[in-house]
Amino acid sequence: MADPNDEPLSLLTRMTSTMSMGHTPEARVLIVMTGGTICMQKSPNGLVPARNFLERCMAPRPEFNDGEPHEPIEVRFHDGADGMGELHSLRTPTSVYGKRIRYAVLEFEELLDSSSIDSKGWAEIAQTIFRNYRLFDGFVVLHGTDSLAYTCSALSFMLQNLGKPVIVTGSQVPFSERKNDALENLLDSMDIAGHFMVPEVCLCFNSTLFRGNRTTKISASAFDAFASPNLPPLATITAMDTHVAWNLVTRSTILQPFSIQKDLHIHYVACLRIFPGIKPKMVEAVLRTEDLRGLVLETFGAGNAPSGHDNKLTQVIAEAVQRGIVIVNITQCLTGSVNPLYAPGMVLGRAGVVAGGDMTTEAALTKLSYLLALPGATQESVAKDMARSIRGELTENAGTIFSHPTGELSSPITQLTAIAYAIASGDIEKVKDLLHNDNQLINRADYSGNAPIHLAATGPSLAVLRFLLRLGASVHLRNHTGSGRTPLFLAANAGLLPHVMLLRQAGAHLHAEELDTARLHASQRPEIWNATGLEGT
Ligand code: ASP
Repeated sequence: MADPNDEPLSLLTRMTSTMSMGHTPEARVLIVMTGGTICMQKSPNGLVPARNFLERCMAPRPEFNDGEPHEPIEVRFHDGADGMGELHSLRTPTSVYGKRIRYAVLEFEELLDSSSIDSKGWAEIAQTIFRNYRLFDGFVVLHGTDSLAYTCSALSFMLQNLGKPVIVTGSQVPFSERKNDALENLLDSMDIAGHFMVPEVCLCFNSTLFRGNRTTKISASAFDAFASPNLPPLATITAMDTHVAWNLVTRSTILQPFSIQKDLHIHYVACLRIFPGIKPKMVEAVLRTEDLRGLVLETFGAGNAPSGHDNKLTQVIAEAVQRGIVIVNITQCLTGSVNPLYAPGMVLGRAGVVAGGDMTTEAALTKLSYLLALPGATQESVAKDMARSIRGELTENAGTIFSHPTGELSSPITQLTAIAYAIASGDIEKVKDLLHNDNQLINRADYSGNAPIHLAATGPSLAVLRFLLRLGASVHLRNHTGSGRTPLFLAANAGLLPHVMLLRQAGAHLHAEELDTARLHASQRPEIWNATGLEGT
């Protein structure tokens, strides 16, 4: 069977292999509707958000509806015992990758024009994803474009140790208009969320998938509304293929389950754009704002601000840093990075201003709000983390770039076979050797859908399993056995308790489609199956 996480196959190969299959696996995607143009309708007061997106826009379209009746799908609306409920679900026809996507749309109580979103709205999105994390393979968030880059950036920090795709999109023209970009953006987002293991908060727009915290809105009217000036797209979608730049995709390498930081201190930060002739008094007025804890300073070029004949501006800034305010230097330029190349930039650095590298303003502001809200945050800890990449939001110059020396490596399938042998014999040195310089192979599946992690989950060496997890192996990939088995299911089925425990530590859970079979097995071997977290589902 073709798997989009495998090496590229031609469209024809994929279609043929899909047709030869009996069982068509389903991916489950939750669509979270927050509002925005995508769902809007005309009213006497201009465009306003409208409800019932699934019934109004998606159900009538064959791209989104295979026409069969479907059971409602389980969704968690609130925390607590009475938080579970059901939503009407639909299913797409089978894709070229041989999967169907079953989905539901969860609409926010108040649908917003995104220009009104704030940290409360971001917390609501983060909590919705957290509550439903175990029930779905991926998430699509529908949102207005105005503050979309801010929301993507905020979510990328709030969602900690994310292991599943969260694809945020919207449109310039409502779905209900005859000529729109909503249909394409939604279809692409669902395809990515349902087929590709890109465990990041991404923005999908105009046939392009971006890392969310690298984006900025560049057009109020063009379909090509977003850019990622300092990082190439994570994927591009053409009529022929979805090409994922796997070497750019980041994965959590910390062995901790998914969690959220739901409060951002957005009300304690500010952003100020320096301009020629700006008065130090004006900067000081902002820096004296009650409760201010952080400031993003948009400076010229490589991070320069006017020095003035009396150095007053630098003095005002240095005093604010001494009062405990974290000040981050971001360039007004669309591309390039803040670094102490020129004297004025160096002066700011000496005054205690943090160089924000090539972060966008959207990323810097939301990251600052996130770090300030973390338990135990200090001025030093926040300043230190602002200067390094925590979610791929800035380019660290010291970072090692792994790339393929062209022509030297054998095909991925040959390499996967070699890795499989090394895992099966518990040869950690060999596994390290084969995987170390190629992070693109870590989540690659062979023809039976087994990625290295599936093999290690039943392999003889716990050290190999730990090594793969630390390298960013996804615990949520499903192979092609049965309804698609996760590494956790395989480890439990093989009776390997230490493997089960380690996978759980790294955030693994059984897939919704594995639960019935797991419950059957649990009656025979409760100790091991209960360790999979089955009881809590
Ligand atoms: N004002 C709208 C919003 O951000 C614009 C859009 O969705 O494109 O909600």
